Amino acid sequence: MVRATRLVILGKQGAGKGTQCVRLSQHYAVPHISTGDMLRAAVRAGTEFGRMAKDFMDRGELVTDEVISGVVSERLAEKDASQLGFILDGFPRTAAQAEALEEMLLPSELDLVIDLAVPTELVLKRIASRRVCRVCGANYSVQSPPKVDWTCDNCGGEVVLREDDTEAAVKRRLDLYESQTAPLIDWYSQREKLVTVSGEGAADEVMHRLIAAVNRAKGIPQWS
Ligand code: AMP
Repeated sequence: MVRATRLVILGKQGAGKGTQCVRLSQHYAVPHISTGDMLRAAVRAGTEFGRMAKDFMDRGELVTDEVISGVVSERLAEKDASQLGFILDGFPRTAAQAEALEEMLLPSELDLVIDLAVPTELVLKRIASRRVCRVCGANYSVQSPPKVDWTCDNCGGEVVLREDDTEAAVKRRLDLYESQTAPLIDWYSQREKLVTVSGEGAADEVMHRLIAAVNRAKGIPQWS
């Protein structure tokens, strides 16, 4: 039986987590589980939960630990994630979420937590240029737009600025990252789970660095 791959990718908004997680998920054939994408899908579906989440998201605030941990716990219990593993993007974001994740995974544990490190000036530039499909949530940017007239390559949906990429909400999210999420870097480092990978440079270069880090952690020879 193939050994599961269980990864968490930490990093500021705009660090490139979304793009790299999609690629890593293809490379290791494990589901990419993005809490931001799950919440945006609930908003698009217009559910009660989605309406509640939208209010937090538009202000750049965090959804409560209990609610988001419940959503992740249900998702991780699904067959694909429990058998193959996962790449978690956007969770955990607080110490309480990291503790909840540890419990959810028992008796197994994470293989690796990657801090995708990018300076704040660069993430601000990337956020200003990023765009998202209103329908399926696929990511684009001004430098890397869809092929035809801001309609999504995957589903034909309209590609727009993210609703929570306003100046005030971006600032709030970066402040929350520093106060709530950055401390997890030490938390995982003390548990000998953490590696830092630079998220600067071309997407392909970053991808190669990430694969090298994951292969090292899994004991996979570097040439495979
Ligand atoms: P993201 O796409 O990861 O930037 O997430 C977008 C928004 O969803 C965040 O600004 C939060 O409002 C909410 N969100 C996503 N993940 C979490 C989480 N783990 N805990 C709390 N709120 C979250």
